[in-house]
Amino acid sequence: MAFLGNPSNTNEILNKFGLTAQKRYGQNFLIDSNVLEKIVKSAGITKEDTVLEIGPGIGTLTQYLCEAAGKVIAVEIDRNMIPVLEYTLSDYDNITIINEDVLKLNIPELVKEQNNSKPVKVVANLPYYITTPIIMGLLEMDAPIENITVMIQKEVAQRMQEGPGSKDYGALSLAVQYYSQAEMKMIVKPNCFIPRPNVDSAVIRLDIYDNPPVQVKNRALMFRIIKGAFEQRRKTLMNSLSHSSAYKTDKDKIEAALVEMGKNVNIRGEELTLEEFALLSDILGQ
Ligand code: SAM
Repeated sequence: MAFLGNPSNTNEILNKFGLTAQKRYGQNFLIDSNVLEKIVKSAGITKEDTVLEIGPGIGTLTQYLCEAAGKVIAVEIDRNMIPVLEYTLSDYDNITIINEDVLKLNIPELVKEQNNSKPVKVVANLPYYITTPIIMGLLEMDAPIENITVMIQKEVAQRMQEGPGSKDYGALSLAVQYYSQAEMKMIVKPNCFIPRPNVDSAVIRLDIYDNPPVQVKNRALMFRIIKGAFEQRRKTLMNSLSHSSAYKTDKDKIEAALVEMGKNVNIRGEELTLEEFALLSDILGQ
């Protein structure tokens, strides 16, 4: 079976199966072999590795992953893609295809069943409409994951690396920075996909920390506070948290915590660092 990573082979497969790219599933198929090779290289895949791929589509990136990895587990929501994958991946005996919504999957359970709970590498050209829930889920689920190498919108990749003072700093930046070391690998132009997305894309690799760079007593509480703080980002932290659905507490308690931290009581959440959110969480959790 020929590699799919070019326009003619991609169109041929879509025509053979009578399919078109489904917008509702965020289907943009890669058609550039250089980009595909670079994704696999960026993820540092060897034959020792088991890879979890999210959204294999017609199997374009999956072919490269099957060549490089010991084993590949691919999770695809669109059932119309399953016969396509069985055809395009028929040369490989190291692939397991799962027809599921990745957001409904228990990833730790899956890694236990498929890889004896040994850490996997996640690689994906993600569906852009659900990038944030997928990344947050992977990070917060405590699954055995060594690293995550994903194609996402360029703006989202930049947001992951922002700090206080940037308008793009938010709950996603803090989660990525708490759980991982991020490295931007490349920018990818719309003409590398069929159909072309409206935005530039980027490949980013997140290496999951064994020990997070910041200590906090109750991690779940800290992330509830972070979500609450950014629900209405232009409000003061006191106002956002006292009205938040993610975390709610009295204004007096928040004011006392900020005073204890030596912070201005009118500070906004977007001005706090990860270390300061950890300290705030430890004080409020007492
Ligand atoms: N990997 C292919 C490639 O690079 O050409 C396709 C990537 S395309 C951007 C995203 C893929 O994710 C599509 O195949 C889509 O059907 C799949 N997808 C969308 N939502 C999903 C979900 N919730 N769970 C699993 N797969 C999903």
